[in-house]
Amino acid sequence: MNFEVTILGNSSASPTSSRHPAAQSLKIHNNHILIDCGEGTQMQLSRYKIKRADITQIYISHIHGDHMMGLPGLLLSMNLARRESSIEIFCPQELVEVLELYFKYSETNFSYKINYHLLNEYTSEIIFENDDYTVKSFPVFHRVPTWGFIFQEKRKYRKINQEACKKFNIPFEAYTSIKMGNDFTDENGLIIKNIDLTFDSIAPLSYAYCTDTLFHENVIKAVTGVDLLYHEATFLHDRLERAINMMHSTAKQAGIVAARAMVKMLLIGHFSSRYEALDELLAEAKSEFDNVELADEGKCVNLNFI
Ligand SMILES: [Zn+2]
Ligand SMILES: [Zn+2]
Repeated sequence: MNFEVTILGNSSASPTSSRHPAAQSLKIHNNHILIDCGEGTQMQLSRYKIKRADITQIYISHIHGDHMMGLPGLLLSMNLARRESSIEIFCPQELVEVLELYFKYSETNFSYKINYHLLNEYTSEIIFENDDYTVKSFPVFHRVPTWGFIFQEKRKYRKINQEACKKFNIPFEAYTSIKMGNDFTDENGLIIKNIDLTFDSIAPLSYAYCTDTLFHENVIKAVTGVDLLYHEATFLHDRLERAINMMHSTAKQAGIVAARAMVKMLLIGHFSSRYEALDELLAEAKSEFDNVELADEGKCVNLNFI
């Protein structure tokens, strides 16, 4: 089952000639999700061959421009394409007000329905669930209300024990039912228990998106145990004071969060435009946590292989 993240933008605040503001595409079991939507996201979607029409949900971490300025344009393009299916947007209340005011004055009539789901500033909660995955939001610590998100897949199927199935002469057609946890009954009415034919399924994978936040114990708690963590690393640690004033984190702090939260892999991004080369940021995060990579634009991380 696919579970992969594609980085569309990794810049903080202002874009640079080679880096775009925050946006990521996430695919979980063929559900297409967009996380944040900075300026230029539409062009990045087409560059990396991700179809606008496939996106069913959009999660916006907060109202700062580098995370949402691409959203009105994206919604309007979906309208120009005469989209029919509704879209779900998980975001702060303020963003709904901004968007609706713009759509009112631009006299935009949508061909599809936009369903807004408001984020709760004070608690961590499950904000979406279907048969394939759940999404949890958690507040982080920034200048305006801001949220992180944890996407966790559901593993519905047990793993077939090939050897046992051969031994009991289980026909291949019965595998789907057995994977779903059912016992097998042969033509003589003999029941073979599911537990004798399968193994437990692999633990569900999870991805945490965590940007625009101060280093904080509650963030570490919230992301503990996820497989892949995306964490902002706006500055190098020599600008810690600036990071604290702007309510951002340093690359070193991102590494500390990953190490303490015992994640499998860390991606760092949301880099200040002051850094042309990013290797120092990577080295700094690596000094705290081994398995870290830069969230380079176009990079696609498959959670099944980390
Ligand atoms: Zn930002
Ligand atoms: Zn921000």
